[in-house]
Amino acid sequence: MIKMPLPLIVEKIREGTGLTEQDILSRVDEKLNQLSGLISKEGSAHIIANELGVKLFDQVQGRLQIKNILAGMRDVEAVGKVQHTSPITVFTRKDGNQGKVANVVIADETGSIRVVLWGSHADTISSISKDAILKVSSGYVRENNGRIEIHLNEKSSIVIDPEGEKVGDIAAPIAKRKNIADLKDTDMDIEILAHVVQVFEPRFFETCPTCGKRARPLGNGFFCEAHQEVTPVYSFVMTAVLDDGTETLRTVFFRKQAEEFLKMDSESILQFRNSPEGFAPVKSALLGNYIKVVGKAKTNEMFNRLEFICTSVLADPDPKEELERLKSQAPGQQAPANTPHEQQLPEQLPSVEEI
Ligand SMILES: [Zn+2]
Repeated sequence: MIKMPLPLIVEKIREGTGLTEQDILSRVDEKLNQLSGLISKEGSAHIIANELGVKLFDQVQGRLQIKNILAGMRDVEAVGKVQHTSPITVFTRKDGNQGKVANVVIADETGSIRVVLWGSHADTISSISKDAILKVSSGYVRENNGRIEIHLNEKSSIVIDPEGEKVGDIAAPIAKRKNIADLKDTDMDIEILAHVVQVFEPRFFETCPTCGKRARPLGNGFFCEAHQEVTPVYSFVMTAVLDDGTETLRTVFFRKQAEEFLKMDSESILQFRNSPEGFAPVKSALLGNYIKVVGKAKTNEMFNRLEFICTSVLADPDPKEELERLKSQAPGQQAPANTPHEQQLPEQLPSVEEI
């Protein structure tokens, strides 16, 4: 059974019939009453769609947009751009045999989804690089802790950079608002709205000018693992403490996010390397500011505390708009946050029969 959320069914009926949402929902309730609660609201909506001759599921054929992929679908084909990949995890099945799994997150214009590569597909992970286009076919779709995933087994196939397939601008993940006090390790795509209560000076470090990775001092020069001896360029990272009234949170801003946070370009920030005293007025201007950050929570093992890795910053959010947004965060919406991180996957392995 394909699990289609109620708002989507209502939307399809609306498109197919021109009825208003209110009209559809009252028919759904009426049907629900008739059947004296024997079925779910979704089930009732399915019946209404049937009665009105609205086809809820087009034959799953050809490429599906990621937003249209639903739990329970089989034979799914999707194309997306690689966002990140996990290493291979080897695990032992109940029968003592070893299995392996890896996963990759792909995204298209409509959303992103995790693709779980079982068995020999897991080996493909080493040849999948970020931003490659991935085409997966004959996958099946499962729900895992509220998140939809495409699973690939031996009947499925995967093609890296298939000819003629393109992906447009990637949809930004929908972040879920959380209070700092409710944050958990591995929370992803979380939005925090808070005041800046402490700002630390940026720390500068050497990077390879070609690949941007950290360059380590070696002899008199610097060394990149991929590009050997390099003349380094400087990058920076900074931290600030945010407070949303529930708790405080140490937040890490890498280069691009630090630029957004400070509202300065790289060159200006790099000047603080030689004249750190220039940072004092910048810092005091930031203190007390109200900002919105999106990112993920991560435990800092060294200090055994939860930190936030910021992926984007919105300074000066509009409080009115924020209130409206909170009100409109519909319960039926698929919440991409609060779901497990790749590394947690082995605990939630489906049974061997399903693989
Ligand atoms: Zn390099």
